[in-house]
Amino acid sequence: MSDNGTGPKRGLLERLEAGPVICAEGYLFEFERRGYLQAGAYVPEVVLEHPELVAQLHREFVHAGSDVVEAFTYYAHREKLRLIGKEHLLEAMNQQALTIAREVAAETGALFAGNICNTNVFAPDDDARRAVRAMFTEQVAWAVDAGVDFIIGETFQWGEEALLALDVIQATGKPAVITFAMHQDLATREDWSPAEACRRVEDQGAAVAGLNCIRGPRTMLPALADIRQSVKGYVAALPVPYRTHDEQPTFQSLHDPEHGHGDQERSFPTALDPFVCTRFEIADFARAAAALDIRYLGVCCGAGPHHIRSMAEALGRTPPASRYTADMSKHAFLGTDPTLKQENQAYAEQL
Ligand SMILES: [Zn+2]
Repeated sequence: MSDNGTGPKRGLLERLEAGPVICAEGYLFEFERRGYLQAGAYVPEVVLEHPELVAQLHREFVHAGSDVVEAFTYYAHREKLRLIGKEHLLEAMNQQALTIAREVAAETGALFAGNICNTNVFAPDDDARRAVRAMFTEQVAWAVDAGVDFIIGETFQWGEEALLALDVIQATGKPAVITFAMHQDLATREDWSPAEACRRVEDQGAAVAGLNCIRGPRTMLPALADIRQSVKGYVAALPVPYRTHDEQPTFQSLHDPEHGHGDQERSFPTALDPFVCTRFEIADFARAAAALDIRYLGVCCGAGPHHIRSMAEALGRTPPASRYTADMSKHAFLGTDPTLKQENQAYAEQL
């Protein structure tokens, strides 16, 4: 539900109370696909290099049904910028991403979300804890200064790192959405199950707890049912749009010998195309998740606006992009419109 009408904008919790909230994610993958971001390091330099494109993708996702504009600060953290030798751009990149997202949220009535994620330097020792807390603290402070409505902490593999992120967010008074990325063993790195991990962040005060990224619809759904049993509050589910399955439950484990890249075992990240879910599979996922009363829904790495529109429509919405939802009745060969040339319909068998 976007708030384009009059009156004050409703916050995250009010919207969740009323029904599902959709959050489009996957900006790294989409900009990689479009040729503006490099797979590997995956740093969102596009925010500084082509801010107009970032604004436009935010708009496309809202047009397709996203209720949230998530500032593109994913991996815009100190460790990633150190890795590419551009730590001096850290603050500018965060400020710019937040400014872009704030502007699109204001023009569309969508919620404006800040974002932090796994730092890749967490370890269960005090030096690492201090370093991670400092990284979260600087990014969260910029988000709060920018006036975010809430803050997303996502793709955590360490449960303790998620709790640390939550602690930093909670100190600001902003609602926190915390999601875990569960790899093949379906547990955090300290071996908490999805249900236990979500219960722990809920107990510490997260507004929403759940899973995002890594798993496709088919291998995320069973864990969601367990989480739903285990927590009282709002649950998040934002799978990747890939056909993961029991033998290859994560997009990093997917491989297809016929369509791999070179002699590499993995299809991740740049040869995943044969596994992409159709919009109908995403709609099926949205209905199944909604039936479990999972309120915070979206699609992560690999998502395109057509997936988001399909999710929105499965939830009974008609976002602006629904104006262009397929109507095959007017297709030249496959259509049924009486004004179409009849011979073409007969020829349809040859297509
Ligand atoms: Zn992702």
